[in-house]
Amino acid sequence: MSRCILVMGDNHGDVGSLERVLDDVEDEPIDLAVHVGDFTRAWRHDRELGVEQLRVVEPLLDRIDDAVDHGLLWVWGNQDHFGDIDYGIDAGTEIPADGYVTVDGQRFTNAPEHVEDDVVLVTHMEKWSLVDHFDGRAHFCGNTHLGRLTDRRLNSAFLQASAPDADEPTYGGYFVVELGDEGPRDVELRPLGDLERRTCERHGDRGVQFLPADWECMYCRDERILYRELAGSAFYGCADGDDGAAVTEADLVEHAVSLRDDPEPGFRRDFERYVADIGDDRYAPLAREDGEGDRLVVADEGYSY
Ligand SMILES: [Zn+2]
Ligand SMILES: [Zn+2]
Repeated sequence: MSRCILVMGDNHGDVGSLERVLDDVEDEPIDLAVHVGDFTRAWRHDRELGVEQLRVVEPLLDRIDDAVDHGLLWVWGNQDHFGDIDYGIDAGTEIPADGYVTVDGQRFTNAPEHVEDDVVLVTHMEKWSLVDHFDGRAHFCGNTHLGRLTDRRLNSAFLQASAPDADEPTYGGYFVVELGDEGPRDVELRPLGDLERRTCERHGDRGVQFLPADWECMYCRDERILYRELAGSAFYGCADGDDGAAVTEADLVEHAVSLRDDPEPGFRRDFERYVADIGDDRYAPLAREDGEGDRLVVADEGYSY
C-alpha cells in the first residue's frame, strides 16, 4: 500500500506559507499531512508571542486538516517550547511520544524507542544518532532549517524562516512524499521561495540537500554540522544504541570513517581534531566521561543526539 503524505514544518508564526500550502493542496488527492513543529517563534522571544502566533496559525492548520483526506498530524517544536506554552492546538492530531497514533492504517510515533519497521517517526529534532541507523518506515523532522533526504529520513527544511545572516524572512517549501511499505518512493519538493534540490560533490554520501539557492552545502558552510552528526551517529553505532554506554575516541573515529562512502581528503584528521576538542562545541552530542580521559558519553545537553 502506498500513501501520499504532505510533509512540512517550521513556519515560525507565518500564516502566508500555510495559506499557500492550502491553496496548493485543496484539490489534490493528499492522504495525510504532517507538520514537524515550530508553529511559532516563542523561543528567544516570549511565551505571549507564542500564544498570539498559535491563535492565528491554528485556523489554517484546521483548514489543512479538513482539506486532506485523513487529516493533519503534528508534533511540537523547540521554538514552541515543545508545547509548554499556555495554549493548545485544537486542530488535527498530535503524534504521541508515549506510543502510537494510527491514521489511514499507518502508525506514527514521536519517540525513537517506539520505532518498528512499519512505523513512521515524526520528531522536530533531527536526531543525529539515527542518521545511519534508522529501522522504521520513514522519519520526518525539521529544526535545522536545512532540508535533507537520506534514505528514509526527510528533514523538511522550513516553510518560513530567517537565513542565519539576514533579518528578512525567507520562504522555503514543503514536500509531497509517496510512502510505500519500503519507505519513501519519491520525494517531491514544492518550493514557496527559491529552495532547490542539491547534491554536494564532497558530501553527497550524506544525502540530497534542499536549500535556498544562495546557500552553500550545509557541511561546506560549517563542517561542525558534519562532525556533530557523525559523532552522534558513530556513537550510536559503537554503543549499539545504548545511550548510557561510553565509547573510546579511537573507536568513535574508526566508526565515523566507516560511515562515509568516500570521505574527502583529511576527513579523518579533521574529525579526530573535532573529537579531541569536543568540549568546545556547545552543540556537541557527546562529552568526556567524568570530564576527562578518552572515553565519550552522550552529553547532558546533547542538543539533537
Ligand atoms: Zn524552526
Ligand atoms: Zn559539501
